[in-house]
Amino acid sequence: MIEVNELTKRYGSVLAVNGLSFTVRPGLVTGFLGPNGAGKSTTLRMLLGLNTPTSGTATIDGKRFRDLGTGLRHVGALLDAGDVHSGRSAAAHLSALARSNGLPRRRVDEVLQEVGLADVARRRIGGFSLGMRQRLGIATALLGDPPVLLFDEPINGLDPEGVLWVRRLFRRLAAEGRTVFVSSHLMSEMENTADRLVVIGRGELIADEGVTEFAARG
Ligand code: ADP
Ligand code: ADP
Repeated sequence: MIEVNELTKRYGSVLAVNGLSFTVRPGLVTGFLGPNGAGKSTTLRMLLGLNTPTSGTATIDGKRFRDLGTGLRHVGALLDAGDVHSGRSAAAHLSALARSNGLPRRRVDEVLQEVGLADVARRRIGGFSLGMRQRLGIATALLGDPPVLLFDEPINGLDPEGVLWVRRLFRRLAAEGRTVFVSSHLMSEMENTADRLVVIGRGELIADEGVTEFAARG
């Protein structure tokens, strides 16, 4: 379970996240919806201990990320897929992560298979399309078989088949009892992907309810 409580992040004069409070429960796909610049990435980064809150707390299963101490085994995340500009192959990249997180080597082949990158596993990531990078980012998130998964704009750059695949994947992960939190700036996408929505704008909470309730607001 993810708990965000009175979370605030200020960058100089920019209030990126402003007194945000919400909970994300296991067993559901929860969408994190808001326009570009609303504060979604900043919130996810604070959950992952990559940004320090100005005030408030962001915890996973009752602990701050750095106190979980379990790396990819507890929380898997896809952030900024476009940023992986590696000369290494997908397999080498994932193997290094598996090694540093004490995960069995077989997980690398399993997740490459799972995300549909088995055939290009030996190619350098530098030559990957954005869609392939998204799949690789999703493979990274799945590597430790974690109960909590965060995905920042996972649909960006995926082809239509990829979009359908990722929706099925999120459903399955939620059905397995995991906590699945997926950010997007597209309501249309979230209507088809999420059970619940946490909606934010300008760093503030706008809604926290079922997708059908939110869609019926009009
Ligand atoms: P979203 O993910 O919803 O698009 P972000 O969390 O990326 O939103 O950004 C929220 C606001 O904070 C934006 O105004 C953005 O420009 C600003 N911002 C994000 N990260 C930083 C940073 N590291 N330094 C300064 N401003 C930032
Ligand atoms: P922390 O709060 O944990 O020290 P920050 O996110 O404040 O981490 O620091 C990251 C730095 O990266 C910022 O100082 C900023 O210069 C830069 N940065 C990253 N993303 C953005 C963004 N979206 N807009 C502006 N600056 C950014």
